[in-house]
Amino acid sequence: MSRLKQKKAAQIKPLEVVKYGHPALRSKGKKVEKIDDSIRALAEEMIVTMYEEDGCGLAAHQVGRSIQMAVIDVMPAFEDRPSRAWMNGRELELESLMPLVMINPEIHPVGEERSFEVEGCLSMPGLHDEVERPDRVRIVCQDIDGSVLDFEAEGLLSRAAQHEYDHLHGILFIDHLSPEDRETHQPLLRKFQAKASPF
Ligand code: ZN
Repeated sequence: MSRLKQKKAAQIKPLEVVKYGHPALRSKGKKVEKIDDSIRALAEEMIVTMYEEDGCGLAAHQVGRSIQMAVIDVMPAFEDRPSRAWMNGRELELESLMPLVMINPEIHPVGEERSFEVEGCLSMPGLHDEVERPDRVRIVCQDIDGSVLDFEAEGLLSRAAQHEYDHLHGILFIDHLSPEDRETHQPLLRKFQAKASPF
């Protein structure tokens, strides 16, 4: 973690991550119309929360806020699961892009290649499975200053962006599994659900 991130982490308290069964996780997020101080403060709290929970991404829905904003940092996982990104045909230095705040993102697959890779989710701790997704995507979003970012990504960054984009539309990674595979996770899902709605 950089010194700036450490300083911020010391000042900002992590938020509670809601678990499977919370209604926010199944809602479609509202567009962020104005990137003001309250949005910037929420983004910082979400970044701190993501690091605290050892995640590589976090959507606003997961802290109970149904808006089109997610944060990502693929650097801590880089050795095991590398990423690459390009802007205007030129490869980007990944570190300069992280932590990435995606506001009002649009994601489009690039090419036909698709792969299965293991995913997990901070809203479903302990649950992992292989999900098929496009390898390379184009991501168009606003950053925390309201500037438009338009870039292509591969590797974990591509996968994390697609996973978070799903969250912003009320979709969870288990929705991509076959009914049989999803069935194997029912005992754990029922446990989350029982905690979310004890009555
Ligand atoms: Zn997730």
